[in-house]
Amino acid sequence: MKTLMLGADQIETAAQILRSGGLVAMPTETVYGLAADALNGAAVAAIFRAKGRPMDNPLIVHIAALDQISGLVREFPPAARRLAEVFWPGPLTMILPRSAAVPAEVSAGLDTVAIRFPSHPLAQKLIAVSCPLAAPSANLSGSPSPTTAAHVMADMNGRIDAVLDGGECAVGLESTVITLAQGTPRILRPGGVTAEQIRSVIGETVIDRAVTQPLGKDETAASPGMKYKHYAPRAEVLLLDGDDSAFEAYIRASGDDKSAALCYNGEESRLSCLCIPIGDKEDDNAYAHNLFSALRKADELGCSRVFAHCPKQEGMGLAVYNRVIRAAGFHIIKL
Ligand code: AMP
Ligand code: MG
Repeated sequence: MKTLMLGADQIETAAQILRSGGLVAMPTETVYGLAADALNGAAVAAIFRAKGRPMDNPLIVHIAALDQISGLVREFPPAARRLAEVFWPGPLTMILPRSAAVPAEVSAGLDTVAIRFPSHPLAQKLIAVSCPLAAPSANLSGSPSPTTAAHVMADMNGRIDAVLDGGECAVGLESTVITLAQGTPRILRPGGVTAEQIRSVIGETVIDRAVTQPLGKDETAASPGMKYKHYAPRAEVLLLDGDDSAFEAYIRASGDDKSAALCYNGEESRLSCLCIPIGDKEDDNAYAHNLFSALRKADELGCSRVFAHCPKQEGMGLAVYNRVIRAAGFHIIKL
């Protein structure tokens, strides 16, 4: 299959592919998504094949108008409405009771469905001229999510019909996933909307243990995606928890010419290995924005090991932490 690279003026071509059951990677403000018509079970099944995604890991349905939600869910509870008013369009996914119109493939057989209203103008236009779109991140399963059209091509060239190029994604990490389907609202994956922001709107909100901890052998994941290996480059990721001088000393002692450090701006001169800057120290939005492209860069440069700073578990830092501990196989090196 030849994968077309489409520009912003070719949305109608992308929409036609989607209407006829094909797959198009689309830009969103979080990461690139691999989209198919959410109500076409066969098209949705093709997403899983193209990514090599386990069939039990459900997808997010993307909408571009609030009234599209009524065809997708059985209930839209008051707390979900309040979150939608404040954070949609934007990087927040809500899990709600699934309507029978949503094919089982989308939800991997669960009784719930994940819904998001993205803010990226191209994603909105594409949905508006086609239909609600089921879309996971447009990477091969397990590898870092793509934040540019070139990243999508690196993983998906020849496996999907087209990529709609919308430039670099603003947030750089996937959406926050929260379930409102039963009991106290629970964050299953931290992302562009922080737990603190959510609590300021709906009050008590729990953070699922699997956000920061590996699942036990017989534990069931509230969000099936959490049980899989994720976000990992080919290089080994070493997550270092300590102050900057300990970070430098660790790299001096154990770095080599196949190592790279994801470093803060200005730190390059103090580190004795290849440096890939991830933004200013304390700027967790920058770390989020640059993390996945930095991990891909380390692979492009042929590195076998990547040293990374351990972020704080608050605000956007929690979303970065959730991704890097998975990239590092849940192994943190305390300095
Ligand atoms: P991705 O689109 O690749 O960023 O992954 C979507 C995430 O949302 C995965 O972690 C899924 O397991 C999770 N997810 C999607 N639908 C549901 C659902 N109905 N219930 C729980 N988690 C879900
Ligand atoms: Mg993904």
